[in-house]
Amino acid sequence: MNRLTSHTLEKGLEILGKFDDGRFLTSINSCVRCGLCGESCMYYTALNNSYYLPAKKVELISSIFKRYFTFIGRRFPQLVNARELDDKTTAELVDLFYGACTLCGRCNIHCSIGVDIAYLVNTGRTMLAEMGFTPATLQTTVDAALTSGNNMSIAPDELVDTLEWLEEELRDEVNDPGASIPLNEKDREILYTLNPREPKFFPLSISAMAKIFYAAKESWTLSTHMYDVTNYAFFTGNRREAAIIARRMLDEVHKLNAKQLILAECGHGDRAFRWEAPNYLQTQFEFPVRTSVELFHEYIVTERIKVNKNLHNEKVTLHDPCHLVRNGGIIDEQRYILSQTVTDFIEMNPHGADNICCGGGGGQLSMSEYNDRRMKIGELKAGQIKNTGASVVVTPCHNCVDQLLQLNSHYKLNVKIKTLAEIVADALVLE
Ligand code: SF4
Ligand code: SF4
Repeated sequence: MNRLTSHTLEKGLEILGKFDDGRFLTSINSCVRCGLCGESCMYYTALNNSYYLPAKKVELISSIFKRYFTFIGRRFPQLVNARELDDKTTAELVDLFYGACTLCGRCNIHCSIGVDIAYLVNTGRTMLAEMGFTPATLQTTVDAALTSGNNMSIAPDELVDTLEWLEEELRDEVNDPGASIPLNEKDREILYTLNPREPKFFPLSISAMAKIFYAAKESWTLSTHMYDVTNYAFFTGNRREAAIIARRMLDEVHKLNAKQLILAECGHGDRAFRWEAPNYLQTQFEFPVRTSVELFHEYIVTERIKVNKNLHNEKVTLHDPCHLVRNGGIIDEQRYILSQTVTDFIEMNPHGADNICCGGGGGQLSMSEYNDRRMKIGELKAGQIKNTGASVVVTPCHNCVDQLLQLNSHYKLNVKIKTLAEIVADALVLE
């Protein structure tokens, strides 16, 4: 790690001093050290070490704030346990805030007095990002998005080739030469996004989505210029870079004059654009922004598509992406969809708003230096899956898919991992 200089210290304190909003100040000053948040955090539970307590993260940022922005902390730091922002504290911040938190927010709902721990961690990341302490592995993903337009640096030709091949497959599958995957069409009802993992590794989830749009006779398009639903700058905490990425998506909706934006299955991507981008960009969207989960729900409830659950008889369980359920409040929709598309569904315990993170969020999948830790905390999710006895795990998030695939192989779960689009497409009854 780089050493702290007077310039980086100044920069960090300048950022920290700006966080004087009620949410931040209440959260750093309210912890009563009851310890109730401990069991809610997979780092503390799986690694069995008080170093990983969520309250420890609160205490860390609070002690730095007190040292520089309160009278007693400045004059008598020992009295209030105020800490210098020095090399040792910075290293601890990086390790705990980037390397030991997925921003899952589960501790928030277990805190006895509502301390917003995940917000404090994200705020700490913002300070570290401005100081230049974002782990290079995570920053590389953001840089790829900033320079190439998508976080996997997929070249436009490569994307178009994949989509043309998928269009051919779609035509064969639905036996209709007019079936299409529209690209860069203006004035469509829906602009649909992708997680770059789809064209790169999981093209079948794009096929599934195209088949659903075909069945719904939807007016839709993809953009080959800006389609990336992710925003890893939300994970680095760099709000300027997060705003640049969000602005591109907003501009693309305007350019194509789409009536609504449908976000692909991606927990943090949904949050970053739907809920955080209006803050980054200081604007309200004048068009609806929804997730594909809500769209599937609408299609099935209104009978715009027909599905037959008897086409899927394997035992299925559901992994809820943290940002979708805890921040987005989308909990019942995916359950209704599964009730209509599979015959044998079993919940994990716990689930919904209290679901345990898969361990891949918060940018952990990009930060290879924390791989061992990530696989260890994933043990809790692996245990949950095993306990259901399911042979299929569905999750509406491509990042979760990636982590679940790794858990599947590491813990020998012997399950199939699917997106919700794949499940809906499998159950489609085409007329
Ligand atoms: S947000 Fe999640 S990972 Fe981070 S401290 Fe809270 S429970 Fe642990
Ligand atoms: S549950 Fe809330 S108040 Fe209790 S130790 Fe954790 S952060 Fe502090």
